[in-house]
Amino acid sequence: MTNRFSLALHGGAGTILRSKMTPEKETAYRAGICDALAAGHTVLKKDGSAMDAVVATVCALENNPLFNAGRGAVFTSAGKQEMDAAVMDGATRKVGAVAGVFGPRNPICVARAVMDTTDHVFFTGDAALEIARQAGVPFEDASYFFTETRWQALQDTLRLRAQGTESNDPARRHGTVGAVARDMSGNLAVATSTGGMTAKAPGRIGDTPVIGAGTFADNESCAVSATGHGEVFIKYCAAHEISARMRFAGQSLADAARYVVMEDLAKNDGSGGLIAVDRHGNITMPMNSEGMYRGFVTEDGQLTSLIYADE
Ligand code: ASP
Repeated sequence: MTNRFSLALHGGAGTILRSKMTPEKETAYRAGICDALAAGHTVLKKDGSAMDAVVATVCALENNPLFNAGRGAVFTSAGKQEMDAAVMDGATRKVGAVAGVFGPRNPICVARAVMDTTDHVFFTGDAALEIARQAGVPFEDASYFFTETRWQALQDTLRLRAQGTESNDPARRHGTVGAVARDMSGNLAVATSTGGMTAKAPGRIGDTPVIGAGTFADNESCAVSATGHGEVFIKYCAAHEISARMRFAGQSLADAARYVVMEDLAKNDGSGGLIAVDRHGNITMPMNSEGMYRGFVTEDGQLTSLIYADE
C-alpha cells in the first residue's frame, strides 16, 4: 500500500543515557520532536512538496537548543561552532550542501540556497556565507548559538582527552537533526543538519553534508538521513548503500537499512542510526545505539515521538 504522504525526523543518536534522563528533559525532547513534525505535516497536508516539508521540519529542530544543529550546536576542540547541512531532492537529484558555516540562523536554508541559486552543489567558508546573505537567510550572533550544556560537554571531553580517555556518554559525543518525506506527488526529499561531534578538530567535516553518506534521496529507491560517527558513515557510503541494496539486490527499505546499520556500521565502530522513507511512503528508523531521538506523523496528523531503541 502506498501512503499519500509520509514524514519522519531524527534529533540525533546522542540520546541522554537512560540513567541520566529526567521526566522534565524527556518531556522537553518529546515536545521538540512533535513541534518539528507538526511543522512538516502542515506543509505536506496542503499538498506542499517533500522538500519544503523536510526544510520546515529541520528549521524547527535547528531553532531548538536541545538538538545539535543551529542553536545549541556542539563546539570544536578550539571552542568554536562549525555547522554542516545538506538537502537532496529525490525527483531531480538536485543537491545543496554546506560545511563549516557559522552565523546563519538555519544552516539548512543555506544548503537549500546552494541548491536553488547556484550551479554547484557544495560550498564552505565565506562563499557559503555570501550565498546565504544573497538569499536573505537571517544571521545571528554567537550568543544566540551558545548553550552552557554544550560548552560543559566540551570541557568534560577535553579533560577526559587530556587523561587519555574518551567519553562513553553518547549525549556528549553525538547529535544531528534530519527529516525525510514523501509528498502527495510521490516525490522524496531529505534534509540533514549538524554541529558535528563534540571536540572535533577545527575544519573537520562529517557525513551530514556528504551526499551518499549522511544524506541521500532518489525517487526510485529511498530518502535517508543519518546520525552517528560520521567518519564511518562516510567510509561505508551509508545512505547510498541502502539505495543500492534496494535497486540491485531487490531488498526492502527495512532490510537494506537494517543491514547497513547493524552490519556495515555497527561492526566497524560506526555507532548511530538513520531514518529512511521509500517511494511507497514506508518508514524505517534503525539504530545500533542506545537510542535516537526520532518521530513520525501519520496523514491524519497523529504525532509519535520515540527516544530509546526498545520503544
Ligand atoms: N554524524 C554527525 C557527524 O559526524 C554527528 C552525529 O550525528 O552524531 O558530524
